[in-house]
Amino acid sequence: MFKRLHFRLTAFMGIILILFMAFIATGIYNFTRIVFENGNREMMKSEALRIYAYRNSSQFDFRVNGNTVFQRIGPSVALMGNQKLDACYVIYNDKYERVYAVEDEIKISDEIQPLAVESIKGKKDSYVLQKIGRFNYRIYTRYFEDDKGSSAVQVYQNTVNEDILWSFLRTVLYVTGWSGTAILLIISYLFTGQALKPVRDAWIRQKEFVADASHELRTPLTVIQTNLDVVLSDEEGTVVENEMWLDNAYSETKVMARLIDQLLILAKADANEGKLDISEFSLTEVIENVCQNMGIIANKKGLDFQLNLEDNIKIKADYDKVRRLIVILVDNAVKYTEKGKVTVSLFTDKNKRKVFIVEDTGIGIAKNDLSRIFDRFYRADKARHREGGTGLGLSIAKWIADIHKYTLTVESTVNVGSKFTLKM
Ligand code: ADP
Repeated sequence: MFKRLHFRLTAFMGIILILFMAFIATGIYNFTRIVFENGNREMMKSEALRIYAYRNSSQFDFRVNGNTVFQRIGPSVALMGNQKLDACYVIYNDKYERVYAVEDEIKISDEIQPLAVESIKGKKDSYVLQKIGRFNYRIYTRYFEDDKGSSAVQVYQNTVNEDILWSFLRTVLYVTGWSGTAILLIISYLFTGQALKPVRDAWIRQKEFVADASHELRTPLTVIQTNLDVVLSDEEGTVVENEMWLDNAYSETKVMARLIDQLLILAKADANEGKLDISEFSLTEVIENVCQNMGIIANKKGLDFQLNLEDNIKIKADYDKVRRLIVILVDNAVKYTEKGKVTVSLFTDKNKRKVFIVEDTGIGIAKNDLSRIFDRFYRADKARHREGGTGLGLSIAKWIADIHKYTLTVESTVNVGSKFTLKM
């Protein structure tokens, strides 16, 4: 599922990237072309004017010759000397006759004459890009009118060299565009993978949690069913005679109720609904209160239950959650200790932090298990699990500590004892 999502996200990013790159590349290309063409157009326009001005300055030659217009202008050093543009020229009079031309080896004035005719007729300038023969040309036809009548100056350029440059620019843009897109796609694939990792981890955790939860719920259910089956099969037996089976079933319902209660807490924690209901209260009193009940159970087990509490330590926290945390730690200490003692302490350390410690001389936790002890459904000794334990207590305790920004740590040695420390 996540692989497909990963690919889909990358493909989606890819499409956006390709569109973006195409937009940028076409933008750059077209903008450069427009700027270039505009520049050229202006240069050709002023070149046409320069040639027109030159024609006017050659009046003398024109009159002496008596011919229609200025043959004498003809391959002029002055004209060529001032030439600013690498272009060819053709000049027409008002009878559309070509009166002067400077052309390349490939002459195209015949093909472009209609443009001059159009210009003179329409009394307007024109600028066209046209393919003539094998090459593209840029042709500027400028219309002039003065006391000698109308004329047109046509300036044209072969764009073969530019075309090569443009096609080179296109290739460069294609290559950089595609390779850039490919590189960005790879990077985005890697980043998407990274971004998806926490989501995937959370999803896997959630799946495991649901699987574990249903497994844990099935166990007491099976026990209840088996015990009730025995009772049902004994048609003549009284309730008293079947008390043992009914007791078994009843205690399993208690386990189930506890499990469901804890599952609900964790579900709320996952949904971020575990909002804190902060109030100020005496932590000393809460611990004393919890330990009153626990002390009775500990004494029944023959344990030495000691309380070392500093007087009236107050905290601002979520009362119910902190109380639950204390119950979990003290309950575990009593539950996992068969002989020796359980010590519960509360004091303010030298850094003015309030410290709550539950220490026992119980079975302890193996080194390998220590790092996983706060995981959901984790029980260090799976064989011993049916002591009413669910494997959820410590994960809830850790969550409560975390949302209060407290630190909960554990030190333990197998068969020596454990020490849980909560720093507030
Ligand atoms: P459980 O409901 O099984 O007690 P917890 O989350 O409270 O679940 O504890 C997880 C596991 O950590 C327990 O199953 C037990 O193996 C171990 N553990 C917790 N507290 C102690 C302790 N004080 N001494 C030894 N082992 C402990």
